[in-house]
Amino acid sequence: MCAMKTTIILLILLSGAIFCLRSGLFAQGTPASLAYNPYKDYPSYRGTDLGVNYNKSETVLKIWSPPAQEMKLKLYKTSLGNDLTEEISCQKDADGVWKARLMGDRKNSYYTFQAKIDGKWNDENPDPYAKAVGTNGKRGQIIDLSETNPAGWENDRSPVLNSPMDVILYELHIRDLSVAANSGIQHKGKFLGLTEMGSKNSQGQSTGIDHIAEMGVTHVHLLPVFDYCSVDESKLDKPQFNWGYDPQNFNAPEGSYSTDPEEGKVRILEFKKMVQSLHKKGLRVVMDVVYNHTGRTHNSNLDQLVPGYYYRAWEKDGTYSNGSGCGNETASERAMFRKFILESVTWWVKEYHVDGFRFDLMAIHDMETMNQVAAVLRAIDPSIIVYGEGWTAGDSPLPEQYRALKKNAKMMDGVAVFSDDIRDAIKGSVFDGKSTGFASGSKEMTESVKFGIVAAGEHPQIDYAKVKYSKDPYTKNPDEVINYVSCHDNNTLYDKLKISRPDASEEDIVKMHKLANTIVLTSQGIPFLHAGVEMKRTKGGEHNSYNKPDSVNRINWDWKYENRELVAYYKDLIALRKAHPAFRMQKNDLVRKNLVFLPTNDPQLIAYQLKDHANKDAWQQIIVIFNGAELEKNVVLPQGIWKAALQNYQFREDEKTCSSTVSIAPYSAMILYQE
Ligand code: CA
Repeated sequence: MCAMKTTIILLILLSGAIFCLRSGLFAQGTPASLAYNPYKDYPSYRGTDLGVNYNKSETVLKIWSPPAQEMKLKLYKTSLGNDLTEEISCQKDADGVWKARLMGDRKNSYYTFQAKIDGKWNDENPDPYAKAVGTNGKRGQIIDLSETNPAGWENDRSPVLNSPMDVILYELHIRDLSVAANSGIQHKGKFLGLTEMGSKNSQGQSTGIDHIAEMGVTHVHLLPVFDYCSVDESKLDKPQFNWGYDPQNFNAPEGSYSTDPEEGKVRILEFKKMVQSLHKKGLRVVMDVVYNHTGRTHNSNLDQLVPGYYYRAWEKDGTYSNGSGCGNETASERAMFRKFILESVTWWVKEYHVDGFRFDLMAIHDMETMNQVAAVLRAIDPSIIVYGEGWTAGDSPLPEQYRALKKNAKMMDGVAVFSDDIRDAIKGSVFDGKSTGFASGSKEMTESVKFGIVAAGEHPQIDYAKVKYSKDPYTKNPDEVINYVSCHDNNTLYDKLKISRPDASEEDIVKMHKLANTIVLTSQGIPFLHAGVEMKRTKGGEHNSYNKPDSVNRINWDWKYENRELVAYYKDLIALRKAHPAFRMQKNDLVRKNLVFLPTNDPQLIAYQLKDHANKDAWQQIIVIFNGAELEKNVVLPQGIWKAALQNYQFREDEKTCSSTVSIAPYSAMILYQE
């Protein structure tokens, strides 16, 4: 997300009034954006060959631009130089398509298209479908894709995933992982940094990909890795940082993460090597995709080719709407952009073996598009996962009833949404630094946490009126929600706890930290961890680090040693989830049947039981208790002898047993079981 977004989301989420006003507006008359469609007469193109079609004897290039009066294809020697070699006038084909045929082997030539519209020559750009681009993505490149496969690529297989409920996500920025001097990684800030095995920090502990695999997570979710605008790929000797939520070429990898941005095939090869290495280490790969807007607006390649078509606009004055908070929003409901998204995700799966997609500001997209995305991917491989942010960052002409919003999640099939409910219930609102959550002492969040525990679904013991944000269940089944407390946006978990509880000792902050993600990893739903959280990652209190220096964003691998006890705790916590299907029920009716909250009469104490070998768990009975208070609390246990798996901030392997009443330490979780 870009800089402006946070404030706008704040307005939307904090002000129910704005939402009500909007719903009222759209309840009357025809949905605005669907009525306002001056482009409906443009013919759609059904073929799947837009862009470059290379072979050794000829290359055919096709581009869709119905309003163009003329179309030029320009060929260059280099990616940025003033070295035009050829200029070709494209031929008009059917359905708004323009075509150019180049004879002979044109491998490695750079190219741009230029459209003449309303008598004026627009900017030169690569086609939106460009799969290989040169430095800064300004020109496309004709390449031989068969040269971009690493050795053994044909044998690359994703690790087995039996159910989406087995997923444990780890959200990572390519550069953050390796750029610190103490990462022990050679290819700092590069895709190749994720291929280096055996890297160590100064204390001899594993770093990089080895560390991630050791933690036991199943999926590495990568912040934008498609080509984005903000980092100057021609000046990589100078440190630069950006999250990358400013898309430029959706179908090509980002050049600054490659060792040679000039050569289009290098970034493709290195991206594939990264995927191959992650797969070898038992990790699947998720891409964060940002089809909801483009980094540039009127000078984007989309708008220069078919002005207005790819973006939504307000009916009243024709100005572009800004649901992304970044200057524009795309129009997924229009045939050729929906087709673009479907073909793009398919490309990343088939060519790069990507295993899932996280949709940024997903509610800018219409539900029909998201359902088609999920269906298309499911048809290729049912284990591919799709999830996204079920909100927008600003107002959109697309009526709420069509948006892929969190509250509409039940109308989507195979698309999960992030739970801001559990996120803010556990640690306090992301929009108010000082606010606390259940894990940091709030007495207001009990019902919201319980709602998170049951994966935002229907459960007879939840009083939905008392849930902070959502007043209704929004999932049909637990695999439709992503549970988390922290991600790249907003403060890190540690910083949030420090800022909201300045009175607390460092020791108590660590206890809250453990409690926070213990709730996430024992809850029903798909858990998500922000990379480095396991080693108390801090950004020094910076809440929006999208363009901040490495010193703010990088993972400092000394943290792993300094916080080795916390790292071990997270590892045990992840292992516990993986060993116990009771925490990973696939169906809501199983959750309703097997998960029973125990009365505590205390807003800072939540206890529940997972009954009768829930979801075929080896443990017959499980009790989970969370104490969010600064005092020790007592809980009366159901009858029988219970063994403690987690007690006093530690996973136990001894045979300590308890019965009748147990004490729960301050800010802690306890897990008890009967075999
Ligand atoms: Ca770029």
